[in-house]
Amino acid sequence: MSNAIAPPDYSAVMSRILNRPDPYCPWSDLRRRHGIDLRWHSADDNMGFDFAPQAVTAFDQLAISISVGLSQVVMRLSLAHELVHLDRGPVTSDRTDAEENKVDRMAVQRLVDPVIYDALSLGGRQIPPHERVRLLQASAECLRIYEGWRAGVSFKTALSRYEQYGPHRWPEWPAPWIATKSQEWPMAARFAQAAPRHVARSLSASGRTIDA
Ligand SMILES: [Zn+2]
Repeated sequence: MSNAIAPPDYSAVMSRILNRPDPYCPWSDLRRRHGIDLRWHSADDNMGFDFAPQAVTAFDQLAISISVGLSQVVMRLSLAHELVHLDRGPVTSDRTDAEENKVDRMAVQRLVDPVIYDALSLGGRQIPPHERVRLLQASAECLRIYEGWRAGVSFKTALSRYEQYGPHRWPEWPAPWIATKSQEWPMAARFAQAAPRHVARSLSASGRTIDA
């Protein structure tokens, strides 16, 4: 009789996660979004909020600022979150909380491969947390948000949201909302000719221009 713990059987998991397509990369997405200004702020800088944000989008400057010192997987979620903000544009202050939840969900849908997620979940008791993080490139917060969303949707829905974007399929850029700000913001004016004409309408003048 032995007290040794049996090694995990990864064979079933491996058969599912091999040959998956390359994932959506927020850094590649950022690189091809011309006109975005990437900045960095210190970890204790609250950037005007009542907490120190991991990342902030200043819509009127088309700028993203990321806190230094974040881990790779935390930064990956933070950047993806801000890029979703740039896709959707500013919202009024009364919609901020709902918008943050929506943006969080949209970000994790782009980041977490449902095939790998489900494969690791099926063998969850055998897969150490650090291996789940490595294989999914997802922080604990990312997985928490994703888990909550996946509980209410089918695998088919999760797969379609994930495969919506990838190394060769990107969100529309410049985002249509930017053209609506070309009269107010110098940065947005640069995109006035590039954006579709049918969306060139005014947003609420009371919209927030900065969001964490
Ligand atoms: Zn946000």
